[in-house]
Amino acid sequence: GAADLDCDVVVLGGGPGGYSAAFRAADLGLKVVLVERYKTLGGVCLNVGCIPSKALLHVAAVMDEVSHLAALGIDYGGAPKVNVDQLRGHKEKVIGKLTGGLGQMAKMRKVTIVRGYGNFVGANHIEVEETTGDGQERAGVKKVVQFKRAIIAAGSQAVHLPFMPKDERVVDSTGALDLKAVPKRMLILGGGIIGLEMGTVYSTLGARLDVVEMMDGLMQGADRDLVKVWQKMNAPRFDNIMVNTKTVAAEATPQGIKVTFEPAKDGVTVPEPQTYDLVLQAVGRTPNGKKIGAEKAGVSVTDRGFIDVDIQMRTNVPHIFAIGDIVGQPMLAHKAVHEAHVAAEVIAGELQGNKELASAAFNARVIPSVAYTDPEVAWVGLTEDQAKAQGIKVKKGLFPWAASGRAIANGRDEGFTKLLFDDSPEAHGHGRILGGGIVGTHAGDMIGEIALAIEMGADTVDIGKTIHPHPTLGESIGMAAEVAHGSCTDVP
Ligand code: FAD
Repeated sequence: GAADLDCDVVVLGGGPGGYSAAFRAADLGLKVVLVERYKTLGGVCLNVGCIPSKALLHVAAVMDEVSHLAALGIDYGGAPKVNVDQLRGHKEKVIGKLTGGLGQMAKMRKVTIVRGYGNFVGANHIEVEETTGDGQERAGVKKVVQFKRAIIAAGSQAVHLPFMPKDERVVDSTGALDLKAVPKRMLILGGGIIGLEMGTVYSTLGARLDVVEMMDGLMQGADRDLVKVWQKMNAPRFDNIMVNTKTVAAEATPQGIKVTFEPAKDGVTVPEPQTYDLVLQAVGRTPNGKKIGAEKAGVSVTDRGFIDVDIQMRTNVPHIFAIGDIVGQPMLAHKAVHEAHVAAEVIAGELQGNKELASAAFNARVIPSVAYTDPEVAWVGLTEDQAKAQGIKVKKGLFPWAASGRAIANGRDEGFTKLLFDDSPEAHGHGRILGGGIVGTHAGDMIGEIALAIEMGADTVDIGKTIHPHPTLGESIGMAAEVAHGSCTDVP
């Protein structure tokens, strides 16, 4: 049929994956159409994810820091007055600055943005129905985009438990970021990064927290030693940390949301039903694969809604690619961006007959994770438990921040830096770094160095002999390598 728009590549979804793919493709000279149902670019990450959560977490961290100053002779006098409307306004301004910037960057690159909800209607056509307001309402007006190549970057959304009542006291991360008011008692359903970050914000603003997690510990995926420190430092925020516990029922009552728990494992005791002023559902995110008409283009979607791709980000249909949350774990913005660049380069290479570009591939060894809580927890590569499970012998270098001059000067010496090196016989005592984790303030800003070390195959000497500035928290990475090497004799 006749198309309203014709392009080299259409990108479905304007999140970190989608806009990065569109920009890279345009920079490489392709004619690009970007389809997005929201009124701004940036997807979950900029609008209701990474960025707004960090705007609020920054404020919470400053508040916590200031509250410690009284003991050092700096007293601001009493509890802070919190104006949530003003705080929400600050967060909105941060989002506006970034999404506005993206709009300008799209214009500069002559990327055509089509606002609306896109569905494949064939192997080379997407039909876009215009959306209005916050992106939920459809306006009925439709446009057909014809493409040579497509990149699916439609992302994911929060999982909602089927038994949760429809009630304004039950929210997902988007609702929590809306920050309407500060509840007295809040339940965080799911002990992952997103739930714990939002819990940190609300608890600093004055809420008492409970958290319930089905698995045997909070922050699954992180090294248990790191989580132990986090939990000890954060214990005062919680009335109840429930692990190995299932949430099985919830009821809206005038007093609050009444939630019922059951053991997820034999021998676990759970409390009687509890009533909360706010319940945050943070039990994971589900990909949007089943909502884009993929079957019309012949693209396979898994039962759970993911789209499988090869290392060039290609789906089972050779001219259609997929990137970001929709292709699988870890659901992180920095992963989406790197995958986006690969897809755009492969496509440009193919359309322009450039073999080098066409052979681009996603082969990152590791993808770092960060919980931007207080303290932060950051990790990358193998954890000690994973090494054990895989039968890999490792040499450990652990540097406690109680021995870091800077951490002590900051009054925040509860952290540590832990590095793991290959200690298998084949490594002959010069094993490369396999993983690392940091718990402590600014851990997230330091984990990139460990990721670089892993990508470059560094060993204890490479890292330990690299001169880190003194006194910094980053110095702890060099010291941890020296500990592993057995040459750590003095501490700063
Ligand atoms: P998304 O960002 O989900 O973007 C998909 C876009 O596609 C959306 O804008 C959507 O409107 C649009 N779309 C979907 N279907 C259609 C359609 N049919 N037609 C038109 N448009 C469509 N990650 C980090 O790395 N660091 C963090 O600190 C971090 N914090 C987070 C905090 C929260 C509260 C949440 C919820 C997530 C956080 N994440 C974080 C995860 C991060 O937001 C995602 O990994 C990232 O946004 C994925 O990018 P994406 O491009 O794959 O998809």
